[in-house]
Amino acid sequence: MKPIGPIPPEFAAQKGDLTIGGRRAADWVAEAGATPLFVYDMAAVSARIARLRAAMPKGLDVHYAVKANPFAPLLAEIAPLVDGLDIASTGELARVEGLMPSARISFAGPGKRDDELAAAIGVGVTINLESESEATRALAIGERLGVTPRLAVRVNPDLELRGSGMRMGGRASPFGVDADRAGALVRRLIDVGADWRGFHIFAGSQALDAAAIIETQAETLALAGRLADEAGASPPLVNLGGGFGVPHFAGDAALDVEAIGAALGVRLAARAAVLAQSRFAIELGRWLVAEAGVYLTRVIDRKVSHGETFLVVDGGLHHQLAASGNFGTVVRRNYPIAVAHRMGEAADEDVNVVGCLCTPLDRLGDRVALPHAGVGDVIAIFLAGAYGASASPAGFLSHPPAREMLARGRQS
Ligand SMILES: *Cc1c(COP(=O)(O)O)cnc(C)c1O
Repeated sequence: MKPIGPIPPEFAAQKGDLTIGGRRAADWVAEAGATPLFVYDMAAVSARIARLRAAMPKGLDVHYAVKANPFAPLLAEIAPLVDGLDIASTGELARVEGLMPSARISFAGPGKRDDELAAAIGVGVTINLESESEATRALAIGERLGVTPRLAVRVNPDLELRGSGMRMGGRASPFGVDADRAGALVRRLIDVGADWRGFHIFAGSQALDAAAIIETQAETLALAGRLADEAGASPPLVNLGGGFGVPHFAGDAALDVEAIGAALGVRLAARAAVLAQSRFAIELGRWLVAEAGVYLTRVIDRKVSHGETFLVVDGGLHHQLAASGNFGTVVRRNYPIAVAHRMGEAADEDVNVVGCLCTPLDRLGDRVALPHAGVGDVIAIFLAGAYGASASPAGFLSHPPAREMLARGRQS
């Protein structure tokens, strides 16, 4: 038996039939007409946003990083609850247009094409510049369109987020302008009359250690102060990044966001004079949505090989790559998984839950202990709300895409 990660709190205490947004998994499957499908529970997302607001210092902006989950009905419900949307392509721009004033949308990511810059600058979206040469192109495009571009400078910080699953700072990077050149770029933007919006500093992702995030935020704030002094200008907005992780595997503990918020409040109160008038933001993807999603997939075959039982399901890594361990993890570990109509029942066998793709990579549960499941039963794989449907190789093996559904979070 190998351990599974913790089932998110919304589902962990359930007994019998798994319910998502108050409806049984079987009813979601019936409405979808077929498996596999993703169901996202908006009430779970709203609850996280509310908890974050309560934990963070007053006035701190919360942005949603759209790439974590760009499902349109979900975006439409999240937009009114956050202060900004961070996008990374014009495909994402199309999904968020109209949900929020463009001035509160920012566009980061390396390799923005001229047509993408033009589309974003044309509607007044802030470009988080990834390089000096991107700045040159953005300025030229602004001139051609006759608009003053809104430009922020993404900084490749001389620091990294300790314990983060994905380190994005403190080293050579395709992301952002090295910290020692960022001040000069800001000067140049201001000198040519661009609307400089501030700094974007993102040091890592998927950290579960509050102390590491607290330390990184403090360093990020100090860096923003130094860069602003160097540039001789106060940034309207400092995006401090995010990096808030979600427990995925056995032994992971949930992040203490209250501790992070309290520490950030202290740091912000003591910030450098050059930042006195600045706004501050954090940008989160997975922390807001990962735990809200469940991937439901049906057992197609049950077989035994060399003494091990295999449940072969109709889904797989083409929909939920991360659960197979092939999306940004070094060692494959089990995501939380359950038999959807046997929540809370004692496990009576060890099984391998494998997807329907012709590759040994397609393993969704490796020797997990589950109550008995047979052909036709539905398996639930949790933590499917972020980097699931949109971060998986849907074209591989040419199976149909998974359906996606939203349990709307109207709370009375
Ligand atoms: C992907 C990304 C995020 C979101 O990361 P999560 O780990 O999902 O919170 C935030 N900011 C930037 C710049 C990103 O590229």
